Amino acid sequence: MRVLGIEGTAWAASAALFDSEADEVFIESDPYQPDSGGIHPREAAEHMGDAIPAVVETVLDRAAETAEGEGADIDAVAFSRGPGLGPCLRIVGTAARALAQTLDVPLVGVNHMVAHLEIGRHQSGFDSPVCLNASGANAHLLGYHNGRYRVLGETMDTGVGNAIDKFTRHVGWSHPGGPKVERAARDGEFHELPYVVKGMDFSFSGIMSAAKQAADDGVPVEDICAGLQETIFGMLAEVAERALSLTGTDELVLGGGVGQNERLREMLEAMCEQRGAEFYAPEPRFLRDNAGMIAVLGAKMYEAGDTLPIPESSVDPNFRPDQVPVTWRGDEES
Ligand code: ATP
Repeated sequence: MRVLGIEGTAWAASAALFDSEADEVFIESDPYQPDSGGIHPREAAEHMGDAIPAVVETVLDRAAETAEGEGADIDAVAFSRGPGLGPCLRIVGTAARALAQTLDVPLVGVNHMVAHLEIGRHQSGFDSPVCLNASGANAHLLGYHNGRYRVLGETMDTGVGNAIDKFTRHVGWSHPGGPKVERAARDGEFHELPYVVKGMDFSFSGIMSAAKQAADDGVPVEDICAGLQETIFGMLAEVAERALSLTGTDELVLGGGVGQNERLREMLEAMCEQRGAEFYAPEPRFLRDNAGMIAVLGAKMYEAGDTLPIPESSVDPNFRPDQVPVTWRGDEES
């Protein structure tokens, strides 16, 4: 089976072809880079409008080159239905509907956060892992129970990447800030910042205010970056450990763009090793926003008959992972 995926929840205009028999994913992405500041929803949507046709065309060309028969040989079109920025989602939804109708194939509406989880489950071969999604706009722990991915714990304010990006904007660094914090932290000494975990939930706003204040007070930025990483990732590792303990699961997968950070992966790996659990982090192209994960989950949903009639295919900027009935695992009651 071959599924064409389209992603465009925020910054990555991306299309992909997933061939389930070969287990091969071809991804073409065009990132939006703001001239200044963070992601501006209107500019990001303009970027989607410009870039989606080109990335889809590249993937369609690839599909035609690798097709066994005539044409592109595509069985379904999958798209990111949410959560994300409304103006971006609407453009991607329109493109996906038009493409499904043109190719005369079913449409599959994918939850972007469940896709972050499922790409890790698909590649690791884990059965029922806990997932830490550490992305720009989100930060949560997911665990499977009774046919849904339940949110076991989450941020009480901003997503983890957005929190880091707010600090880097404050010190005048361009977007995205996460990789710059990772680089700067290598030369820094730990600077103490508030550590805020409440049960299974956590908060970043106080940490960010303290980090900005420290920068204004003249603390070396490298030290603040080292403090940010140790504090924020320590919080995420603590809550991930609690989620493993709560669910009795011994498998953890990582999802989301912040998962590209080596220090975060190191801390999660050490935590898992200490408790005898297994840890899997997908390669970077599947951690940051990408259409590959949309196509892979789209294929599983298509195979389960979980397709979307065009009149019911509206997007949902607040689409939570626990709203999704999991139709594709074959163990919906466990
Ligand atoms: P979501 O999946 O919630 O829609 P998103 O659209 O913002 O997230 P992602 O690609 O998942 O996109 O994540 C982007 C975020 O990842 C940005 O905030 C960026 O700063 C952060 N990031 C990227 N690389 C690193 C890194 N090496 N260390 C820390 N953060 C990083």
